Amino acid sequence: MSDELTTMNVKPNNQMAQPQQAPEFKLVLVGDGGVGKTTFVKRHLTGEFEKKYNATVGVEVHPLQFQTNRGLIVYNVWDTAGQEKFGGLRDGYYIGGQCAIIMFDVTSRITYKNVPNWHKDLIRVCENIPIVLCGNKVDVKDRKVKAKAITFHRKNNMQYYDISARSNYNFEKPFLWLARKLAGDPNLEFVAMPALMPPDVQMDKETIQKYEIEIQEAQNAVLPDDDEDL
Ligand code: GDP
Ligand code: MG
Repeated sequence: MSDELTTMNVKPNNQMAQPQQAPEFKLVLVGDGGVGKTTFVKRHLTGEFEKKYNATVGVEVHPLQFQTNRGLIVYNVWDTAGQEKFGGLRDGYYIGGQCAIIMFDVTSRITYKNVPNWHKDLIRVCENIPIVLCGNKVDVKDRKVKAKAITFHRKNNMQYYDISARSNYNFEKPFLWLARKLAGDPNLEFVAMPALMPPDVQMDKETIQKYEIEIQEAQNAVLPDDDEDL
């Protein structure tokens, strides 16, 4: 008889007394310097409170908890200390990544143009993981990268969300999509919002509505042949 079975047979009560360990996933956060990665991850208050510095790789790891109808889920979100400003990230940053967010800044076209490079670096190490593309700073009036120009995710089996870290707009959306993929359960829902930093900018209702329609329209549009039409 295996040890595992023996243990199970002699300690049925202990087993029941143990609280269920929440599943944890390493989430790799990438994108050009200045797009808002650190601002985004720091919105989640308990994650910021419990973050750990990994000196070997030079990153902060934020444990972001979300309550779902299937129980608690924890994303250990890896955030660089700014190394991405000087080129690509070391393999140690990607190794063991189970899901990812690639972020760009909708006010800066070059950060969207660099998305394929981040994607290439990521999937070289993490071959087949769920990935969300996020366009941040949609609170800024002078948006440069419009919904219809954002097509990269469609050819690459990813999801896209407009977000605004500073206003908390759509903060939970990428995490919900990833949770459904990781759990293999399209009916998974968040049952409570995590405590977030209060917004330091407000998105107005009209802008939100306009952007949501534009995303919908972009979703239904025929894919162009290439991504050069920015
Ligand atoms: P990182 O290099 O990707 O980690 O980017 P940071 O989080 O350091 O942010 C770079 C700059 O963008 C900072 O000045 C932030 O205040 C600003 N920023 C980040 N998110 C937003 C956002 O949602 N809206 C606006 N307007 N500015 C943002
Ligand atoms: Mg940063």
